[in-house]
Amino acid sequence: MLSQLDTILTFNQHFVADRAFEPFRSGKLPKKEIAVLSCMDTRLIELLPRSMGIRNGDAKIIKNAGALVSDPFDSTMRSILVGIYELSVEEVLVVGHYGCGMAGIDPDAVLAKMTQRGIAHETLDTLRHAGVDFSQWLSPLSSIPESVQATVQTIRNHPLMPANVPVHGLVIDPESGQLDLVSRDPRADA
Ligand SMILES: [Zn+2]
Repeated sequence: MLSQLDTILTFNQHFVADRAFEPFRSGKLPKKEIAVLSCMDTRLIELLPRSMGIRNGDAKIIKNAGALVSDPFDSTMRSILVGIYELSVEEVLVVGHYGCGMAGIDPDAVLAKMTQRGIAHETLDTLRHAGVDFSQWLSPLSSIPESVQATVQTIRNHPLMPANVPVHGLVIDPESGQLDLVSRDPRADA
């Protein structure tokens, strides 16, 4: 497959020269004072912010595969905390989505693809001996609402989270953009 890099660089030259950035100018502090943790799913690139009424400058948007905080000290949790303490975030929304690729992931199938792509079996064995648990690291999400709820709990209960920052859980339909509320943080109404 052809690399997209040159296409992107050419487009970018025109984008800047035409001053197409003008409508996107905004400050670095989120006007709505929210952080949104969501999934890297391609269908959500524009749909997620549009369906939530979020525009450039409104929010801190953090994305990964599955909208997960997989470890209380991973880079996602760090991003949320930096958003709160350094960048005016006052409310956190975890937005998973139906049809997430992380729900159907099969650790053994991923490992098989790695070896097909040239990763040596010895490398995988070395990592296993060093303590990497691939079946856990690549484990599929149970149900999307449950996974969102688990991530919400991890964030709410984090020892470095201020008590007055509400954390809500939602699931978005990647076709219609409809949001289903999984968990409203009662602290938001306090
Ligand atoms: Zn996803």
